[in-house]
Amino acid sequence: MSETGARVGTQRVGFVGLGHMGIPMTRRLLEAGHHVVGFDISPAARSALAAQGGEVADTLTGVATGADVVILMLPGSPTVEQVLGPDGLLDALAPETLLVDMSSSEPARTQALAERAAARGTTMIDAPVSGGVRGAEAGTLTIMVGGSDAAFEQVRPLVQSMGGRVVHAGPVGAGHAVKSLNNLMSATHLLASSEAMLAGIAFGLDPSVILEIVNGSSGRSGSTELKWPEYVLTGTYGAGFSMELMVKDLRIALDLARQGGVPARFGELAAEMWAEALSSLPAGADHTEIVRWLDKVAAPSGVAAEARVR
Ligand code: NAD
Repeated sequence: MSETGARVGTQRVGFVGLGHMGIPMTRRLLEAGHHVVGFDISPAARSALAAQGGEVADTLTGVATGADVVILMLPGSPTVEQVLGPDGLLDALAPETLLVDMSSSEPARTQALAERAAARGTTMIDAPVSGGVRGAEAGTLTIMVGGSDAAFEQVRPLVQSMGGRVVHAGPVGAGHAVKSLNNLMSATHLLASSEAMLAGIAFGLDPSVILEIVNGSSGRSGSTELKWPEYVLTGTYGAGFSMELMVKDLRIALDLARQGGVPARFGELAAEMWAEALSSLPAGADHTEIVRWLDKVAAPSGVAAEARVR
């Protein structure tokens, strides 16, 4: 039963993009009893779906066959557009199949795609997520849906098997807008809290003690409550969300601010710092590596705070 008490019927779900998020999300769908047919350009990703009991499609368009819903969990709008085509997945969908972009994409490009889909009778909505790999594994993602009331009601029981909180953000594109703004906040919080943490460590404070105090005080954020204790102090830097994707989300949010004529001086500075970190770190670096980068910038020839922590 869903949270609303409605029985969730078994659905045939096509799923494209079996990466850090797509694999745990498909696992939740499978555990909820849905039939998942997935595709990814990476053979390792396809094997991961098969290993957890999902069906692997031979081709991209194979996910469309008989699907009630097709979900995309791809890096962003350029990939979503490439996958949908011309001569792609969109043409292979039956008009009654609901198309759901759960990637963190660009609102205006999503609205344009939804219009293209509507012209051939297909409903496309956006339903990006927050909560990271950990939230995807636990089925506690926050899912923000952009679409009509009817489409929201249609998708809600399905996405509830992946999420703890499912919110109707507004019309198509609204989910993608909120998602980018959330990540703008998250990225600036991580920078601000890390500068403060590094200053405290340089002063000689114990980082765990700083966190204990801040997390019961007004300076707390997702960065102090989760990222610092779980990924920085443990030295794993393994949140499973790449720096490249974070920089993409910042660009989307700042474009939104610009389009709305809203000045975002602090956000622009944060984005500049994130882009600088991205260009100086190896490809594929986790976004939490921003702390190590800040630490090196702060102490280019001295003792980095990281060395003082461990
Ligand atoms: P990822 O890079 O781990 O996964 C993306 C997958 O898409 C990869 O497996 C890749 O092979 C596949 N792919 C790329 N091009 C393809 C194509 N043309 N056809 C089929 N498959 C293709 O990324 P992720 O971390 O899983 O993130 C996916 C989306 O979710 C992004 O938009 C990201 O911003 C968003 N997101 C990520 C997190 C996180 O913590 N990782 C959290 C919230 C939202």
